[in-house]
Amino acid sequence: MEKIRMTTPLVEMDGDEMTRVLWGWIKEKLILPFVDLKTEYYDLGLLHRNETKDQVTIDAANATKRLGVAVKCATITPNRQRMEEYPELTEMWKSPNGTIRAILDGTAFRAPIVLSCIKPVVKNWEAPITIARHAYGDMYKAVDMTTEEPGTATLTFQGESGAEKTLTVQTVDGPAVWQGQHNKESSIRAFAKSCFQYAIDTKQDLWFSTKDTISKVYDGEFKRIFEAEYETTYKPEFEKLGITYFYTLIDDAVARVIRSKGGFIWALKNYDGDVMSDMVATAFGSLAMMTSVLVSPDGTMEFEASHGTVTRHYYRWQKGEKTSTNPIATIFAWSGALKRRGELDGLPDLVKFGQALEAASLETLESGVMTKDLVGLVEPGFRATGVDSEEFLDAIAERLADKLA
Ligand code: NAP
Ligand code: MG
Repeated sequence: MEKIRMTTPLVEMDGDEMTRVLWGWIKEKLILPFVDLKTEYYDLGLLHRNETKDQVTIDAANATKRLGVAVKCATITPNRQRMEEYPELTEMWKSPNGTIRAILDGTAFRAPIVLSCIKPVVKNWEAPITIARHAYGDMYKAVDMTTEEPGTATLTFQGESGAEKTLTVQTVDGPAVWQGQHNKESSIRAFAKSCFQYAIDTKQDLWFSTKDTISKVYDGEFKRIFEAEYETTYKPEFEKLGITYFYTLIDDAVARVIRSKGGFIWALKNYDGDVMSDMVATAFGSLAMMTSVLVSPDGTMEFEASHGTVTRHYYRWQKGEKTSTNPIATIFAWSGALKRRGELDGLPDLVKFGQALEAASLETLESGVMTKDLVGLVEPGFRATGVDSEEFLDAIAERLADKLA
């Protein structure tokens, strides 16, 4: 069989631990036999980040900007415990995802992979709900303090021009706690653009919700910027595709989301997105079935699994044990990146390959062959067999070969 051709490379970011092992198998069993794969390879494994003083992460992000599509393996974000585990580390390197997100000015869209044999906890959800979380500012870049005596706190902005603006926050009669938050117009606008762009690319409705009835100025600014971007830039394309932009108060959105059938993007401020994404993921089943796409305002996309490097499985694998680690989210990161590359480069065969890879994966699961994390989640009466990762990938490869023959 002739291999499927690529023209432009995609950026490949390798990672750590069990997901790095899966990464190698996915390429070997599911991609290289069928695709004449072209990638620009960056090793974001922890030790290589350390050797390059994290320059490799910056290089990979810049390459993504240049080439427009990337696929990333999960990576370790070092903490104190990891510094002991890897004594050669010269610094507690920052989260690669944080670095990449800052360089691409991107928004992460997190979506579940839905199966008919695993029903979400919310019965009426039929299609995935994609959460877009604004990843800058608010309480995540706030300053906090406590005070002990009666007194008054004020909020002052000093402009570079010398102009000043001051508000009284509150006068208190005893001990109190305080927080100062901000967000940047440019960041909110980039968030809005990424959301509208991704809604267009995936042909889904976009919902956005804040608490602008209470937070009239702060959340009101988010609402205003979204509306302005929609009206000035994205409305014609939305109308052409028959998709809608819908703003509503977060209380109302929560109620509507629960009663909905799913199948839309829900954009949320930083804290709301943090909380709601965990709720939606749990209701849909498993972290191992969540994909994530980082989207820049200009449509650059980086695909990855939402889960981490699955450390506990890796330690068992290092001892020579077989593990039943679920590769689905990482496979969908690859299929997503290949489909996007195919769309941008006008290569329908590459798009079809990405679709076939997803179909082969889902059909394998629906046939009852799955990793052990999913076996406990299937509907009563559905016969599921738990297999190890390699057996599972081999089963997908067999179906994929049939589809492409
Ligand atoms: P994790 O790797 O997502 O794993 C947490 C647990 O969830 C696992 O121990 C496993 O449970 C289950 N799980 C997750 N993915 C699975 C899969 N594909 N198949 C089967 N089970 C799966 O999270 P973590 O243990 O908190 O973090 C480990 C490392 O990953 C950390 O160093 C962290 O910095 C990094 N991390 C990276 C990213 C990223 O690169 N995007 C994101 C999150 C975390 P059982 O052990 O019970 O089977
Ligand atoms: Mg969270």
